[in-house]
Amino acid sequence: MKKKYSLKSLDTLPITAISFLTTEGNETGEWRSQRPILDPEKCNRCGLCWMYCPDNAVQEEGGLFHISYTYCKGCGICAKECPKGAIVIEKEER
Ligand code: SF4
Ligand code: SF4
Repeated sequence: MKKKYSLKSLDTLPITAISFLTTEGNETGEWRSQRPILDPEKCNRCGLCWMYCPDNAVQEEGGLFHISYTYCKGCGICAKECPKGAIVIEKEER
């Protein structure tokens, strides 16, 4: 039977559903199954990928954006939001 959880209080939530920390401790390089590739030639530096990335894996340095594969989980949101098609998702090679 499927477990049901209510949101009556934090104490009733399973511990795995709660994160009080930043994602800095969640390195994803080992389990990511796909990776975004950012083409700087197509990038217009709008910052949407940086804004939408849920893991702060898109980083900005000197006005240029790049992806940290230490923290990227391969969700593809950045590629979906990029207005220039500058990010493509590729299968992660192991
Ligand atoms: S969303 Fe696309 S165009 Fe905008 S900064 Fe990111 S890669 Fe560049
Ligand atoms: S694939 Fe997901 S986690 Fe990785 S950089 Fe794009 S939005 Fe962030």
